[in-house]
Amino acid sequence: GIILGIETSCDDTGCAIVDVEGNILGEALKSQHLIHLNNGGIIPPIAQDLHRKNIEHVVYEAIKVANVSFADIDAIATTVKPGLPLSLLIGLRYGKHLCREHKKPFMPIHHMEAHALTARMYDKNLQFPFLVLLISGGHCLLAVAEKVDKFLLLGESIDDAPGEAFDKMARRMKLKNIPEYSQLSGGQAVELAASKADDPLEYKFQIPLLQYKDCNFSLAGVKNQVLGHLIKEERKKDVLADGVIPGVNNLCAGFQLVVTRHLCHRVQRAMEYVSRKQLIPLDKKTLVVSGGAACNNFIAKGLTIICDELGYKIVRPPPKLCTDNGVMIAWNGVERWKENIGMFTDFEDIGIEKSSPLGERLIEDVA
Ligand code: ATP
Ligand code: FE
Repeated sequence: GIILGIETSCDDTGCAIVDVEGNILGEALKSQHLIHLNNGGIIPPIAQDLHRKNIEHVVYEAIKVANVSFADIDAIATTVKPGLPLSLLIGLRYGKHLCREHKKPFMPIHHMEAHALTARMYDKNLQFPFLVLLISGGHCLLAVAEKVDKFLLLGESIDDAPGEAFDKMARRMKLKNIPEYSQLSGGQAVELAASKADDPLEYKFQIPLLQYKDCNFSLAGVKNQVLGHLIKEERKKDVLADGVIPGVNNLCAGFQLVVTRHLCHRVQRAMEYVSRKQLIPLDKKTLVVSGGAACNNFIAKGLTIICDELGYKIVRPPPKLCTDNGVMIAWNGVERWKENIGMFTDFEDIGIEKSSPLGERLIEDVA
């Protein structure tokens, strides 16, 4: 079994070829990050144009590196949901085109399922069921992964996702005007600035949803609190030439700390629920953390403390696998191929979906 995977859900055009053992035979990735950074955010038609321009080259690059031909490939996996519709469409069309041309089955992939399952490629001993926290540019969710295609959704963000909040705040703080930060994602920029704080407790923030006994997340309030401090500092008019406030490092540290505490608080709730309902065997307790914001070492440190305290092993794929890439889509294809699910020879009616819940939402209250 060799699967080719295509990812175009947001601003990265990715392709990879992965075998049943999880060996990456070849991969290619074309990021649009810098272009969108200069535009102050992703403009969907621009993202679509860039995917259209790059997709063919990225796919052929991955095939070249893998040194395989289409005859060796068993199926083509492609992200079809959730994501930016214009971006998803390019992958969908190209994936289907390849399937028609080479008579291969088409495998529609859920982007968040792929973020979660990458952990099983990275850690070959990781078995179902496991608890998973996905923190990315568009999502924040906690789920129990029960099978390849079965997730129990414990909670999700009711407003912003962590990556999104970091990106918006970094932009608002004008971090990219600092030369050292100019090429970083918002999350990376905030993490770096926070690491330079001389007083991480200068700005204190309220942990969101403390009184709610569920596993949902909210970052809009935190964002507004940060914004409030920022505006106050800017009014003091000792803003530096590049538009950055002098206390930016401390502000970033406070922001990162409250996000981390919020995530830890919800994860702890989820762990309590999981243990009460015996959803994961005691000797297999594992928390997977994935998605772009899982690259954040401060957040990971906080989560590690919770895991240590509550007897969980933590599995965090390396940054390259946490942010968007073709490998996770190909690997998701492998996972489905092994179970003989989700392969379509009749695929013309398969479409894209802008949003799509991961698995079944828990009906009863987690509390
Ligand atoms: P989704 O997966 O929800 O569709 P996405 O695919 O756009 O969203 P990813 O590629 O998984 O998101 O992750 C990108 C996000 O990760 C960006 O918002 C970025 O700021 C964030 N990120 C990257 N590195 C870090 C970091 N060190 N700390 C916090 N956030 C980070
Ligand atoms: Fe993603």
